[in-house]
Amino acid sequence: MKILVGAFQCESNTFSSAKAGKDSFYILHGDEAKNKLFASHLFEEAGFEVVPLVYAVSLPSGMVTRECFDEILADFRARAAEHPDADGIYLYLHGAMYVEGLGSGEEWTVKELRKTVGDAIPISLDQDFHGNLADGLIPAVQAISGYRTAPHTDYDEAETRAAVALMRILNEKAATVPHFFRIRVQFADAAQTSVEPYVSIMKMVRELDKDPDVISASVFNGQPWVDAPFMSASVIVYSKANHDAVHAKAKAIADYYEAHKTDLKFGVPALSPEKTVEGVKPLAKPVFVSDSGDNTTAGAGGESAFLLKRFLGSGVRTLYASLYCPAAWERLSSMKPGDRATLEIPRSDEYTGDISIEGEYVKKGRILGFVGEESGEGVLFRAGEVDIVFASVRTSFTMKEHFEAMGVRAADYEAVIVKQGYLWPGAAELAASQVFCMTPGTATNDFSTLPFRNLEGEYYYVKPE
Ligand SMILES: [Zn+2]
Repeated sequence: MKILVGAFQCESNTFSSAKAGKDSFYILHGDEAKNKLFASHLFEEAGFEVVPLVYAVSLPSGMVTRECFDEILADFRARAAEHPDADGIYLYLHGAMYVEGLGSGEEWTVKELRKTVGDAIPISLDQDFHGNLADGLIPAVQAISGYRTAPHTDYDEAETRAAVALMRILNEKAATVPHFFRIRVQFADAAQTSVEPYVSIMKMVRELDKDPDVISASVFNGQPWVDAPFMSASVIVYSKANHDAVHAKAKAIADYYEAHKTDLKFGVPALSPEKTVEGVKPLAKPVFVSDSGDNTTAGAGGESAFLLKRFLGSGVRTLYASLYCPAAWERLSSMKPGDRATLEIPRSDEYTGDISIEGEYVKKGRILGFVGEESGEGVLFRAGEVDIVFASVRTSFTMKEHFEAMGVRAADYEAVIVKQGYLWPGAAELAASQVFCMTPGTATNDFSTLPFRNLEGEYYYVKPE
């Protein structure tokens, strides 16, 4: 039997002006695309033929432009059209892609692809824990699996669940029925699976794995910076038999979630920007500070100097990694090591700045992108005790390779400020302690400050302390 595989991912933040166009996507075809997907070798080991469609993955951004979405989707459809004999489709999507003027990228990817492949072929999805499920997506696919960890560490396991679901549908000739429940919460960086209520919820989900009538069972946290009525946490289970009994079990998870949503608390100290400089002083060094409002891994612009301003002249030896500022970058492009300059950081929204930074060009380095690929260049600029990495592209220093490529060491600093929410595992490894700074911005955890217009119903979120 033949399985078509592909990936189309962008985590969108609809408040961010950093829209994702074709340049934002890392695109592969052929064996390169096939080998990027862990599921491919599972299918092949089980005797299925694997045909790669497209592997297209972007750094979290603002909305995906319609032009970009249409172009990549046309590529998917053209390649799928060459295989009318395919038996199943495996797609690795993000779950929170939002397309300008259209809505859920996942819903429209599947619906448009179905115009080529028809309604009979089963589609199994793997998605990020931060996926928002649009109503129209649920009946258009036959299984949805997702990560069960945040920070995410079970990528391969999630791909395995989605691959196994598809192989079971094909081998058992199963027709699945969805059981879908929405939970209206806006859980952002406080939502980690090592704390309640997620410890208990994931235990309940794993119990469903053992039920032979269940083809896939998942809980999604949702991506809270998406202004759409389908933004929410959710429980989605697909069954192949005894649908009423499975429905009741899925509902029990949703009910538990709803009843225990107030259990969620911040796992690390969350400080206001005003208290952060003093707050890092007594902690073990280096202290990693999350500039959470400008978290590029949640789609923010990475342009805000709001927190930088507070560390300049503070006496704390700081690495600020990184700042995306096209105006400053242009100036830096004509400089060399040892040159001094005053860089103007213009205001790009109400949070980002308008500051001047006087300092010295220290050296040039390499900037890696979201999945560790070569992405751009960086310049280390020294302003007193603060070293700032200016990057030619939006990025986030999530792992040691980002620091190595830029030629900096976290251990040389007292504070390391990164454009993240909760720390990614690769950054946490470098940190002796951490502070979650509640900076304002398009990825803020204070949802009362964002101009939502399209939500329906009441939402619950963890209030900043
Ligand atoms: Zn995620």
